[in-house]
Amino acid sequence: MSDTDVILSAKGMTKQFAGFMAVKDVNLDVKRGSIHAMIGPNGAGKTTCFNLLTKFLQPTAGSISFNGKDITTMAASDIARLGMVRSFQISAVFPKLTVLENVRVALQRRRGGNFDFWRSQRVLNQFDEEAMRRVEEVGLTDFAGELAGELSYGRKRALEFATTLALEPELLLLDEPMAGMAQEDIERISALIKRISANRTILMVEHNLSVVADLSDKITVLARGQVLAEGDYETVSNDPRVIEAYIGV
Ligand code: ADP
Repeated sequence: MSDTDVILSAKGMTKQFAGFMAVKDVNLDVKRGSIHAMIGPNGAGKTTCFNLLTKFLQPTAGSISFNGKDITTMAASDIARLGMVRSFQISAVFPKLTVLENVRVALQRRRGGNFDFWRSQRVLNQFDEEAMRRVEEVGLTDFAGELAGELSYGRKRALEFATTLALEPELLLLDEPMAGMAQEDIERISALIKRISANRTILMVEHNLSVVADLSDKITVLARGQVLAEGDYETVSNDPRVIEAYIGV
């Protein structure tokens, strides 16, 4: 893989908590345009890796780069501006606002602007058009005028995707996107992730292995804070070390 094919890269990424090595010497390359999943048994270090990559934690050692730029010491609040967005981080859903209004607020936050600027009807109309495109993209067209608080759980998640997409991420980081979802919603969100991955890169931590199998181009399996195996689902699921790591806990 050439450097320009890699959107996110970690080299020797290590995190020590007091005396405990939660993540040890992890190398990770996320290919541009791919859906990449991190899996592993409980306590493997997935959340810690995710928090390191999204700058919620500072590594004890190693480096992280995004689009070739070293972001190792960069603050979490600054990486979104580079095009690397952690879903559900910035995108709170306001229950008393409609679906469309929620997306408009996300667009307004991205653009900044003072109070008078936002009182202009022309500006609001322009943002409504863009917000509506995001609403359509996540399949919520029929719900644009509904209060966010009245949406089903799965549709609320779809709305969170829309508000996240309003930030125009190049790389979207998803922390257990299927957590707490019913099967019907899992199918809907899987289809949505596939659709939005057409022109974005996605890195996710996900427990649901059939979702991982269905969506991922590449999977990194972690165990005891280290990379145990890497490859497509077929490769990693047949790897005896991976089977042992999952069964042995
Ligand atoms: P996973 O997400 O794969 O379940 P985690 O990254 O949450 O794994 O945890 C990896 C290991 O690091 C676990 O043993 C956990 O107890 C430990 N750990 C995580 N966060 C902390 C912390 N803030 N302080 C001490 N130990 C931690």
